[in-house]
Amino acid sequence: MKRFFLFLFSILIAGEADIVIKNGTVWTVNKSNPTAQAIAIKNNKIIHVGSNHTIQSFIGDHTQIIDAKGKLVLPGFNDNHVHFESTCRIVTGLNLMDVHEEKPFIERVRSVHERFATGVWITGGLWSAYEAWGLSSIGEEGRKAKKDFFKPHRKMVDKLIGDRHLFIQRFDRKIFFANGNALKAAGITKTSPDPPNIKVERDRRGNPTGILSGSGVQNHFGTIIPPRSWEQRVWESEAVLKRCAQYGVTSLSDMSDSRQREIFYHLRNEGKLTARIHSRGYLDQWEKMAEFGIKKGAGDEMIRLGTVKAWIDGIMGNSTARFYEPYSHNTNEFGLWRKIMFPWRSKNGGRDLQSNLEYLALKADSADIQLSVHAIGDAANGYLLDMVDRLIKHNGEKDRRFRLVHAQVINPKDYERFAGKNIIAEVQPYHCTDDMRWMEERIGHERSKGAYPFRSLWDSGAVVCFGSDSPGTNASRYPLNPMLGLYAAVTRQTLEGNPEEGWFPDERITIEEAIQAYTLNSAYASHEENIKGSISVGKLADVVIVSENLLEIDPVRIKDVEVVTTIFDGKVIYQKD
Ligand SMILES: [Zn+2]
Repeated sequence: MKRFFLFLFSILIAGEADIVIKNGTVWTVNKSNPTAQAIAIKNNKIIHVGSNHTIQSFIGDHTQIIDAKGKLVLPGFNDNHVHFESTCRIVTGLNLMDVHEEKPFIERVRSVHERFATGVWITGGLWSAYEAWGLSSIGEEGRKAKKDFFKPHRKMVDKLIGDRHLFIQRFDRKIFFANGNALKAAGITKTSPDPPNIKVERDRRGNPTGILSGSGVQNHFGTIIPPRSWEQRVWESEAVLKRCAQYGVTSLSDMSDSRQREIFYHLRNEGKLTARIHSRGYLDQWEKMAEFGIKKGAGDEMIRLGTVKAWIDGIMGNSTARFYEPYSHNTNEFGLWRKIMFPWRSKNGGRDLQSNLEYLALKADSADIQLSVHAIGDAANGYLLDMVDRLIKHNGEKDRRFRLVHAQVINPKDYERFAGKNIIAEVQPYHCTDDMRWMEERIGHERSKGAYPFRSLWDSGAVVCFGSDSPGTNASRYPLNPMLGLYAAVTRQTLEGNPEEGWFPDERITIEEAIQAYTLNSAYASHEENIKGSISVGKLADVVIVSENLLEIDPVRIKDVEVVTTIFDGKVIYQKD
């Protein structure tokens, strides 16, 4: 009875909804009320989660009714790790990673030329990346062996792009290519001598072909290429936000610079920011942040601040991730401790460089700023677990939610050390799908058991949250599409479905857990679980409808599921036609 009156009361105060979704299979990610049929939204909040019956009282003359036709309804996805600015460049610019032939090369250049404003340089490229990757599971060996990668020529593009400038690089950043105009701007002509440390390839008549190599190329062009204009970057940002809407990403944590943050504020003021942003500063900016009163959870529901970022080791791709034991394919190599953390602000006198990180981390933590530190190798992750213990010792127990960024390879002995510390494992599951091809060659079978240990991390008491790490490296793309992350976590297979039973299948997690990691847990990671991350009354109305029931389909099909509707901040921002 009491519940009934409460319900009546909630209708009275909530009133007519702006949007109602009915006939849905709603998976709320709210443990106390996991499933529903219908949702009511008013302004930018969820005002009711119930059945097709209870939703009736929220429908008025002006309510937009969305019939979900039985489809799965979820909270909007929250990507825990996006390099937004680089994603802009890859998504809107020239991405040639999968290109190594003349025809597609020309087509790709043409399409970028057509969508770029006049005067904007075409850069990027990374041609032949997949050509190299296909050669050998380990990559490096194949690269050494192969000599005849695809070579662009000025003739392919000079007429096509008119007086635009183009300067791009091969995937390994050893060979570069410039069109006629870019060569001219760089002072490289038929008669000019080669600039210092640049080898200019020439045809029989001495005309530059566009191909350049040598250690001086990047610097030389770096001084010529104008920085992308504000207008260009705003345009690019809107294009990527549009992509986010298509994928149902309504929140993301950005790793880019402060310029990008300014763009987000600008877009918000224009009413064009269609994803909530969590934006991190650098660890050595903690003092400035503290001065302005920016601590964990600072900012507002559109742009959240209060977190700093730092790095302690390198990456798997070039064997710089730091391990307790040497790499299996190179027994002299342990990987590196990030050598130069902040050389321009080395306040630490005689301290070694790791403690420089720790010195700043202790300060930031004492100012209640949230820390996030990149760690890939098992020793790097182990070091940070030690560091968290010391943070607790020095600054006391508190709701710090230390973010272990990537948490890629963990020594099984370290799992028990996560318990009770509220450590956030900021994981990007698609890395597993991509890296499993060569992981065992690098670190051996035994250590690979601790690689991308989704299940073990989850059970250890860490708060596992998910994201993409878009756009990826020069060897592989990490797509924004959350379905690929869910797929990776649930199957531990490559996109081709190998191995059949999954790579170290004990480390798989369930689809329900994976969805929670990509929604509620990512919200928790930025201290926002009370306002978003689940479909609950009073939370922000960020909701997606997807094409198939992820909870029931064969997991191998998860990667092909599409978002059909995205609602952000109470408005439909994407509708698949
Ligand atoms: Zn990253």
